[in-house]
Amino acid sequence: MSIKIEHVSHLYGEGEAFEKKALDDVTLEIPDGQFLGVIGHTGSGKSTLIQHLNGLLKATSGTIYYNNEDIYQENYDMKKLRSKVGLVFQYPEHQLFEIDVFSDVCFGPKNLGLPQEEIEARAKEALEHVGLGPDFYKKSPFELSGGQKRRVAIAGILAMEPEVIVLDEPTAGLDPKGRDEILDLVAELHQVRKITVVLVSHSMEDVAKYVDRLIVMDDGKVRFDGTPKEVFSHYKELEKLGLAAPQVTYVTHALKEKGWDIDTDATTVEEA
Ligand code: ADP
Repeated sequence: MSIKIEHVSHLYGEGEAFEKKALDDVTLEIPDGQFLGVIGHTGSGKSTLIQHLNGLLKATSGTIYYNNEDIYQENYDMKKLRSKVGLVFQYPEHQLFEIDVFSDVCFGPKNLGLPQEEIEARAKEALEHVGLGPDFYKKSPFELSGGQKRRVAIAGILAMEPEVIVLDEPTAGLDPKGRDEILDLVAELHQVRKITVVLVSHSMEDVAKYVDRLIVMDDGKVRFDGTPKEVFSHYKELEKLGLAAPQVTYVTHALKEKGWDIDTDATTVEEA
């Protein structure tokens, strides 16, 4: 698996009064097996970027290669791409709509036109991955806790057997327990299942803890790209990009405690 994003720009409302360049000449390669974190302030282009990875949004210019194939070429199998690059939206539980948990997880593989036996086998396996046993199969999604609903939504994606899973703020709105459950699950998918993960997060603590590589989006561009250690060493610039200053300070201190060479004495933001 490999994803190559080449000179991708995206305009919303092209040619109209409210035209907005949400991505501006982004070039990025995501190799197999990476755990990539994406951070940036609200409106920096994170959601727009990730919706290009499975073809949900089409670049205004530039192109994307999935396994070295141009996804914009004529007759490209977008349906297959969407099963290989699973996108978990923010608050994915809002998209649970079947009468019970099991039917919901079956929805994706059913759509792929697989035989019934295979659909059910995949749903069972996916639910097992997210820690929901047979007791949950017949429950209505409405009977579940926030963290459980989100796990069902993730199981629905896993049942497609993706090579890449892209999660947009998967811990938003969860309590600390639900949050840890989801992040541990994502870490397990990466480590044990060897799934490539792209994680969009507001929490710099989470990304510092889990990801191999971090990109920072700002005004539709990738401003920083490196290991969390490299990226957080630019803490002053990160604060200027509107990333929460207390969090940046907290994370840089935490990393220093782990023995990282970061000059935390300078993390106080000077009043302009
Ligand atoms: P983020 O995920 O980092 O918050 P988005 O990708 O959602 O950023 O948005 C990037 C920019 O594009 C913002 O200025 C946002 O207002 C704009 N935008 C997002 N979606 C749309 C849309 N459907 N129509 C017009 N503008 C949009």
